[in-house]
Amino acid sequence: MSSVWDVERWVDEAALSAIKMFYPTALTRNISLPLSEIFKHLLFLVEQKKLEVVYDIRCPECYATVNIVNSCVASGDIIECPLGHEFELTADVIFPVFKISESYKEYVRQYCKKKLKRGSMLRGEIPV
Ligand SMILES: [Zn+2]
Repeated sequence: MSSVWDVERWVDEAALSAIKMFYPTALTRNISLPLSEIFKHLLFLVEQKKLEVVYDIRCPECYATVNIVNSCVASGDIIECPLGHEFELTADVIFPVFKISESYKEYVRQYCKKKLKRGSMLRGEIPV
């Protein structure tokens, strides 16, 4: 049984990896919670400045990313993708993407380094 804390753990592990951005659906592979629950908790982490949210505008015909923007409204404007498909800017073509904030990535890295050092000293090993 998954809980929202699994969302936090996923984000912490992602912060240690090369992952910079991810779609909320990436978490559904490892966490058995409804996407709406995961999404709600990710937005909570945005409030805590661990994450930032940006918007990926994708062509409904070829799924190419047309633009990634910091804020976006479904204005109904006509947009053209790099392949020349024209489409309306509606909620259906705007996908939220979460970015791990640089400062949080740095914090998790430092924290784990310290913890590793402490752990190896406890085992009588020489910290590197
Ligand atoms: Zn297209």
